Amino acid sequence: MVPLKLSTMISEQQIKERVKTLGKQITEEFKGEDIVAICTLKGSYMFYSDLIREIDLNVVCEFFGVSSYHGKTESSGEVKVTLDVTHPLEGKNVLLVEDIVDSGLTMAYLKTCLLARKPKKLKTVSLLVKPAAMKSDVSLDYHGFTIDNEFVVGYGLDYQELYRNLPYIAKADNLN
Ligand code: 5GP
Repeated sequence: MVPLKLSTMISEQQIKERVKTLGKQITEEFKGEDIVAICTLKGSYMFYSDLIREIDLNVVCEFFGVSSYHGKTESSGEVKVTLDVTHPLEGKNVLLVEDIVDSGLTMAYLKTCLLARKPKKLKTVSLLVKPAAMKSDVSLDYHGFTIDNEFVVGYGLDYQELYRNLPYIAKADNLN
């Protein structure tokens, strides 16, 4: 694999500050209630682990595995469930945590899937949103940053399973 030429798009400090704000807003949204926070694997694990530490509520952690890219840089439109949550969501306050919403296909699929389980309330948060998502039907309750239509890696996001461990978001100059 040719190594990516990376340039920082969103710094570690910017992420930290934004995640803190999102945590406060979500705490306010569910004020005094318990929530089930669902981490969509693999991409959102880093955002998820930082975000839940900024939420001042009782949080039950669940993990939902989906894959839509299969190693490519464009969405295939096909969403494959690789891991399901372990407890029923009926009557629960659910927060779905995503890494990035691009076409919105994955988010739309996940919302349909989770709403079918009859949660009391379902709220969605994504660290990043691309312009195509803004034009799609999918609604998002909270997001960290809107970015240009460029392929990004880091802070949980990969390119062919690499670069997830970068503490910041970078764009790949030799891919876009
Ligand atoms: P969507 O279904 O909204 O088109 O795509 C959502 C999924 O595509 C994300 O959860 C993520 O896995 C992947 N994805 C979309 N854009 C990017 C990107 O710029 N970089 C990386 N690494 N993954 C992306």
